Amino acid sequence: MNLILLGPPGAGKGTQAKKMIDALQIPQISTGDILRAAVKGGTAMGIEAKKYMDAGQLVPDSVVIGIIDDRLKEDDCVKGFILDGFPRTVDQAASLADMLEKGGRKIDHVVSIEVPDGDLLARLTGRWMCTCGASFHKIFNPSKVDEVCDLCGANLYQRDDDKEAAIKVRLENYHNQTAPLIDFYNSRSLLRSIPGTGSPDDIYTAIMAVID
Ligand code: AMP
Repeated sequence: MNLILLGPPGAGKGTQAKKMIDALQIPQISTGDILRAAVKGGTAMGIEAKKYMDAGQLVPDSVVIGIIDDRLKEDDCVKGFILDGFPRTVDQAASLADMLEKGGRKIDHVVSIEVPDGDLLARLTGRWMCTCGASFHKIFNPSKVDEVCDLCGANLYQRDDDKEAAIKVRLENYHNQTAPLIDFYNSRSLLRSIPGTGSPDDIYTAIMAVID
């Protein structure tokens, strides 16, 4: 099953993708995670991408399309994949369709997780992450010990782009550049919209129902 999780920053795409991996036995592919790993590793791509990411801007299409093209050729994607944070522009979506077609593959479902802007700012400013992939929230999902991961005990950190100024840019970019993908996929009969305002378990149940 080849899936795309679509939604604004803070909609819970990463949280849901992690819940889906076990049930579906297919990998999560997050361009944000891949880019953050490149930044941490100090690669040429990471150094270039960091400028955009810290400002809340999108990294150029050519960079992320190259990342996805390479990643989808890996063996663990043979049975399917969950794209989280890609595509984010219509050009990225068109490139994705081309690269899948070349390999005789296609997208099965695009799950759009809908959350009003008013909720997103609070969600993102309170978000604390762990390098193990876990994610917490100061108010909605606090860790047992402040700023320490419940799962692995490491210190939690806040993403540089979860600061208010960058969040505003990210939401603006979402509306201008990514939201048009809702029509793009709706016109191809691939869009499955679900409300992203309930508990993570409720949202997970809704996702599994629309991709059944
Ligand atoms: P995310 O973890 O998905 O919120 O992504 C963090 C940041 O990485 C974004 O704000 C962008 O700067 C960059 N990024 C991730 N995915 C993409 C993409 N598909 N296109 C462009 N930039 C991206």
